[in-house]
Amino acid sequence: MSNILVTGGSGFLASAVIDTLLARGHSVVTTVRTASKAATLQSQYPNAQLSIKIVPDMAQLSAFDEAVINDPPLKAVIHTASPFHYSISNIKKDMLDPAVNGTIGILQSVHKNAPSVSRVVITSSFAAMFNAAKPAGAKYSEADWNPVTWEDAETPANAQAQAGYRTSKALAEKEAWGFMEREGPRFTLTVLNPSLILGPVPPTLASLEDVNTSNQRIRDFVAGSCRDKCPPTGSQFWVDVRDAALAHVVAVEKEEVAGKRFFLTAGSFCNAEIVAVIGEAYPELVEGLPKGEALKDGQYPAGGPKYGFDNSASVEGLGVKYRSLKESVVDTVESLKVIEKRGQ
Ligand code: NAP
Repeated sequence: MSNILVTGGSGFLASAVIDTLLARGHSVVTTVRTASKAATLQSQYPNAQLSIKIVPDMAQLSAFDEAVINDPPLKAVIHTASPFHYSISNIKKDMLDPAVNGTIGILQSVHKNAPSVSRVVITSSFAAMFNAAKPAGAKYSEADWNPVTWEDAETPANAQAQAGYRTSKALAEKEAWGFMEREGPRFTLTVLNPSLILGPVPPTLASLEDVNTSNQRIRDFVAGSCRDKCPPTGSQFWVDVRDAALAHVVAVEKEEVAGKRFFLTAGSFCNAEIVAVIGEAYPELVEGLPKGEALKDGQYPAGGPKYGFDNSASVEGLGVKYRSLKESVVDTVESLKVIEKRGQ
């Protein structure tokens, strides 16, 4: 059993990471931004080996200096916290400062103040791998990098909506590997690059309004709000949150994966497939789902998924057995029903 710090404990992925760590016998320290988020999280784990620290602003490089000092001392850190949304008005303030400074900051704080930490795991993203110049039909793997640089980070093509989020994740991951090379700290780094994460939301979620960015499409299909027009799928790869969480925990536990990055994906999907799963499992929802012409934008492009993928490193190196889209979507809908019922 190890004492492990998880940053951003109020988040969707972090909640599954905390569940997995506790289930595997680790004790957890986590950070949230406010006292009210700490209280909500504590209510989710009334009897668990969980302690919570408040770190209000990770855009400050020294934000985690105190949080990494712990008794008993920390053995590892999993840094999940990073803004994930597409409503960006100022790329620097909204995205780059928290994403990049948060990443450099946690590494610096561990380096300075937590000599007991031997492993750091950072949640990056497929966003840090995406390359618009990649030819159709090519396979994505850990070898792929988003080519965005600091010089072009604030151009309109890189600073808005989904592109702005991708820029923040790509620059944060590049800075993390740069830190390791420059500083040569005692601890090792492993980076995980999940594709779009679907899966059950935590039961303590305040309301359906608070569903995290990647699950919003499932919430909206269930609510019937895409009946007249299915949104485009966007990024074509996906992974279940419980599989992504397990990968983070194994990355902490398994020494051999130090120094590597791992693409986490169960494979390709399109929104029309999510609609089909919901329609089959919940006949009472069929009326509110898009069909026929209204489903067109959510289908695969002619000829099928644009890119191939290679997830063998995560299967072999981290032991991930990826869940099916059907299981993930049904379990997500069930978790959304819990939130909806509580609000009635
Ligand atoms: P989420 O539910 O929105 O969680 C994000 C976490 O980051 C929350 O704890 C949030 O705190 C914290 N955070 C956001 N902005 C912050 C800021 N300025 N200062 C301090 N903390 C901040 O999103 P998620 O889906 O779990 O994402 C977790 C990680 O996975 C992120 O690194 C994300 O980039 C990565 N990821 C997600 C997906 C996906 O599809 N969901 C895919 C690939 C990678 P509050 O609760 O206080 O806002």
